[in-house]
Amino acid sequence: MNSAPTLNIDLHTHSNRSDGTFTPLELVAHAAAAGVEVLALTDHDTVAGLEEASAGAGIHNIDLVPGVEISAAWRAQPIHILGLWIDPTCAELLAALSAQADRRRVRMLKICARLGKMGLPGGELLAAVEANPGVPTRAHLANAMVAGGHVKDTEAAFRKYLGRGTAANIAAEWPPLETVIAWISAAGGVAVLAHPSRYKLSAGARRRLLADFAAAGGTALEVVTGPNHADHVEALAAFALKHGFSGSVGSDFHAPQTWNPLGRSLKLPDCVTPVWRSYYK
Ligand code: AMP
Ligand code: MN
Ligand code: MN
Ligand code: MN
Repeated sequence: MNSAPTLNIDLHTHSNRSDGTFTPLELVAHAAAAGVEVLALTDHDTVAGLEEASAGAGIHNIDLVPGVEISAAWRAQPIHILGLWIDPTCAELLAALSAQADRRRVRMLKICARLGKMGLPGGELLAAVEANPGVPTRAHLANAMVAGGHVKDTEAAFRKYLGRGTAANIAAEWPPLETVIAWISAAGGVAVLAHPSRYKLSAGARRRLLADFAAAGGTALEVVTGPNHADHVEALAAFALKHGFSGSVGSDFHAPQTWNPLGRSLKLPDCVTPVWRSYYK
């Protein structure tokens, strides 16, 4: 049963330590102003924003859940696994995230080289990505392509160059799901499969992914994410019950004025056990 229907909780957000626009402190301030009581900062493959966010949480009277969103592979499919309530000082996790950052840098070099071959200024785009304070992501590159006037918006950057099936969509060598869950466990965290309905998988493949996630020690599904439709929530709640997962909720907030605002009401269906149940009533 959902024991905390009124708790305003958002367990998936980004700062500028990855591809969000707010500093960790700004993020916490905006979350508090939006009425969020419990906030997880879950930057892509880094915990670099957690110390600042935690200090800010003390000022703004908000509970900060230390988190991270780790890139992984399931068969050929890139997936994202949230680690929540992690110890951000865990040496094994920090070493693993350092290797993830290296993978990101290598992939970014390859993507920019490919863009160069396609007639775009690969060196300039790489420099623009590297000027950001966060670990490099395709979102930074898409922004640089917009700023350079090469595409009209980030959607076009992904559609034409960076997204699935396009010429500069170079796969990173992400570690398998089992490895990533082991890192999260080593850091004392809870592994949550992020936005399960966003992966382009057949119904059968999605069931196999969830079964493998459970077998590897995955704990929860992100049943409610920012842009989720009601039918997805219902389907994910059913999956959670079937596979014995608890459920999480998160906006996947990156920037204001986008499809996933902070502090919108993220209501977990009553039939799903909240992943936060042992932490908050
Ligand atoms: P990466 O982790 O480097 O593969 O970058 C993926 C990030 O790019 C995601 O976390 C999103 O923030 C962003 N992204 C992915 N697909 C799109 C898209 N179609 N349009 C805009 N942003 C996207
Ligand atoms: Mn992102
Ligand atoms: Mn994600
Ligand atoms: Mn995210």
